[in-house]
Parts: sequence; C-alpha cells; structure tokens
Amino acid sequence: MNAPETSLSSAGFFSSKLEGPLPNQGFLATILIAQRTGQGCLPYTLGLRDEDYQTMLETYFSAIRGMIDSPGNFREQHAIRQELLELRSQEFGELTELLVQNSQGVHASEAWLAQIIAAGCMGGDHLWRDLGLVNRESLRAMFVENFPDLAEKNNANMRWKKFLYRQLCETGGHFVCRSPSCETCPTYDECFGEEV
Ligand code: SF4
Repeated sequence: MNAPETSLSSAGFFSSKLEGPLPNQGFLATILIAQRTGQGCLPYTLGLRDEDYQTMLETYFSAIRGMIDSPGNFREQHAIRQELLELRSQEFGELTELLVQNSQGVHASEAWLAQIIAAGCMGGDHLWRDLGLVNRESLRAMFVENFPDLAEKNNANMRWKKFLYRQLCETGGHFVCRSPSCETCPTYDECFGEEV
C-alpha cells in the first residue's frame, strides 16, 4: 500500500500536469520528504544516478520541484551520506542488480526503487527506517508491488536488509552467513527478530 494519498495530495505532491498518483508515487513522495527532513540514511539524490534522479523529479514532482530540489539545511549530511555510498559502490551495485533482476519490469520507477533500496541498505538501522518509510509493513508492500518474487521468497518475514544480503550470499556475494541453515544459526534473532 502506498503512503496516504490525502496528506500527500494536500501537500501538492499530486498536482503535477500528469494525472496522479503514478506507480510508486506515494512511496517516492514519502521517501523524498523523509530525506529532506533529515530522516533515514539516504543521500540527497536518494541513491539514484543523477539522470534517474532528474527524470524522477520531472515525472512525478514537476509542480513542486522548486520546493524539493534544494539541499536546505542538511548540506553536510548529504555530502557525508553520498561519500559513504560511493565507498561501498560495489555492494550497492550488487544489491541494485539483485533488485532489478527481480522487479516486475513494467515501470521505470521499479529500477529507481531498486537503487533507493540498495542505498538504504548502507544505513545502520532497520531498512524501512533508513528509507524513511512509516513502518515495516509499508516496506513489505513496496516489495509485493515491485519485487513480488522476493516478497514471496521472504515468506518467513526475515528482516529485509538481512534477507537481501542472504540472497547475495547464496549467489557468492561477500556477506557470509554464520551457519548453513537459519534454523541452527546462533544469530537467528538478528535476522528474524522484530523490527522496533
Ligand atoms: S539466520 Fe544465520 S544463516 Fe540465516 S540468514 Fe541470518 S546469518 Fe544467515
């Protein structure tokens, strides 16, 4: 389920010349607002390549672009977050590719979300919080709508960040699980515990 449309609409997010909301517009608006208010871990362009960032703003938020396309009070924080993301570019690339490969492939916003989620994985908090979403259910909804195969695969409700790294681990990525089986793993709670 996307973010509540009423509040976003009253904030002018759906008042562009295009009829809205478009696919994922609610999610993107929530993430963008959170980033601009200093929440989460995302850098200024949300982890998007410059070209994708510009296209996303133009497609979804052209009517209020002047309001949201400004570094505001968080310039230093933006720079640090971008630097950290660049330091982990290989990991970011692997996560992005995993998500793109498992996307529905029906709308460009899926590839944008893939980059944004991968950037969110660089944070130290729960993924939904690092993305600036309102709760874990919202993140699951994002996966169900955009990356359904991954949503189905995570039927044991593993923490999403752990789940994504587990996928990389299974395909030879650099995250090494401490046990061949989750059931016997000494750090089971770190992967499946509640996200509060
Ligand atoms: S519970 Fe253990 S084995 Fe399972 S994904 Fe987490 S670290 Fe890996």
